[in-house]
Amino acid sequence: MDPLFHFASTAVVLPFGIKYLSKPALVGFFLSAAFLDIDHYFFYIYKFKHLGLKKAWQFYQSIRHQPKKVFCFFHTIEFLLLIIFLNLVMKTQFFYGFLIGLIFHLLIDLAQAIYYQEVNYRFWSFWQYLFK
Ligand SMILES: [Zn+2]
Repeated sequence: MDPLFHFASTAVVLPFGIKYLSKPALVGFFLSAAFLDIDHYFFYIYKFKHLGLKKAWQFYQSIRHQPKKVFCFFHTIEFLLLIIFLNLVMKTQFFYGFLIGLIFHLLIDLAQAIYYQEVNYRFWSFWQYLFK
């Protein structure tokens, strides 16, 4: 999903969160819901050993709608389980909000993948990526 869409969708739901979430939870929600796609950039840096944000953007535009070109760890079931585990262990409002934002972000990405019939185009698990 386009990062701008994630910013916009986060901005739309954030006012509802103000009513129900604490400030640390709102920060966690905002960071994960709006910035989770930073892992795309990390993968680009890892793959190309280059920090150029514009080139990274162009790279991702060029491989849009192509199956399994990148691996994004923050978008995996293992990362989701890690955040659930951290919630259970640390029990902080920040991680609670981060988990809600993560699920919100992943549901939007999943909806887009279903819409474009591209559910199998991404790695949903680290193990899936290892044994591709
Ligand atoms: Zn995403």
